[in-house]
Amino acid sequence: MRTAAALLALSTLFIATSAHAQAGSILPEELTTPRLLPPEELFRAGDPLGGDADFTGVTLAGVPMVSSQDEANARLEEIRAAAAATPATSPIEVVYLPSERPELAPVHAAFSKGRYFEPVLGVIAQELDLPVPLRVVMADCKNVNASYIGGRATLVMCHEVVASFVEYFRPKAGGDAAALGKAVVSATVFTLLHEVGHGLIELLRLPVIGNEEDAADRIAAVYLLRDPEVGAERAMAAADATGALSSIPWDVHPMSAQRRYNVMCLALGALNDPRVEAIGEDDFNAHRLPGCPAEFANARGALDQLLAPHYRWRKSPRLEALRISNRAPTDSRAPLPPVNGWSDPYAEALAYHAKVVNGLAAILAQGGDADACALFVIKLINANRREMGSLRAVLTGLAADRRQDLTRAHIFEIFDLLKLRKELRDAHPEIAELAVVEAFFELVPVTLAGT
Ligand SMILES: [Zn+2]
Repeated sequence: MRTAAALLALSTLFIATSAHAQAGSILPEELTTPRLLPPEELFRAGDPLGGDADFTGVTLAGVPMVSSQDEANARLEEIRAAAAATPATSPIEVVYLPSERPELAPVHAAFSKGRYFEPVLGVIAQELDLPVPLRVVMADCKNVNASYIGGRATLVMCHEVVASFVEYFRPKAGGDAAALGKAVVSATVFTLLHEVGHGLIELLRLPVIGNEEDAADRIAAVYLLRDPEVGAERAMAAADATGALSSIPWDVHPMSAQRRYNVMCLALGALNDPRVEAIGEDDFNAHRLPGCPAEFANARGALDQLLAPHYRWRKSPRLEALRISNRAPTDSRAPLPPVNGWSDPYAEALAYHAKVVNGLAAILAQGGDADACALFVIKLINANRREMGSLRAVLTGLAADRRQDLTRAHIFEIFDLLKLRKELRDAHPEIAELAVVEAFFELVPVTLAGT
């Protein structure tokens, strides 16, 4: 088995030398990819991956442990109750309870300061309409574990499980504190997402065929691998740590060696690059790796399909607009969005625009003609007449720079699509009354001159 340091070094090298094109226009992207948030929402520029975490002095030696499952459950209930004392203000609430042990205090300090959970949890909170707030609590458990507490919408990440990752990776990191921090935080975030997977399965009543522990690993990997070039490094560290867990043949968890190879396969499948052979092992390369891209695509597609009814943007044009807009990402350490959603006229304006652009793009991509386009716009207006009536007010009310943003980033695509505008108007004079189109036209006279 290769060491974690070697895996990390190799994958880092790979990441540094790869040159995948960034997504350009929203249109082809929208038409060809599953409904997933852009990677930059998940792994924002400057994300330290835990390289800034200081785990000096962390050890499990001397840390008291529970002696029975009853004691473990009682402690989980104490943790849950302590966190529940404060009402949740966001769809996913993260609570960092301080450690009572000096050996674990650096774990609390690193995670409460680094906020490594928040970016990915923020994406999930923005994406999914959860029936109740999900609470994530990090605490001393007197147990090396992480748990989703069924029926309580509460997820507990134990300081002790992080300490176990520190002890596992410390010799491999060979004194490189940043490498240790990255590996530990990666394995911890994967563990968090595994428990989130259990939570989603329960809260959203997702059907599971097969083993739920395996499903939770795959949910975690798919989230982690939204941006394979960053996520693969994390997933490989997580695979390494998972492979070191003790295995019990009758346990509900698959054997840890299998879990390791499954996560590795998803990571390498997501990367889907010939150079990944440098990372894998010979037999694995020969027998498993060729199928890994399909394995990853299947896992991602299945999860997307299962989550589809729960995507918030299906229910909110504002969120759909936020998702597809190219707005500069906000601070990844910013608080999670409020339970009741957002209020953003800019996003609202984008939403109407997005509906028109995406709808027309889809029609044109399927070979639709001017008649089909006109019919679509007319139907859209009729279905949304009340909201559309406010579009002009919304656009006019925007600050000039934001309006310019809106037009520059998106409006050109409408005009590109509406090269058919003249034919549309000739064939369907009623299109002149389409408030949504006219509002855009009036706001961008300069652009109009060219059409
Ligand atoms: Zn599990």
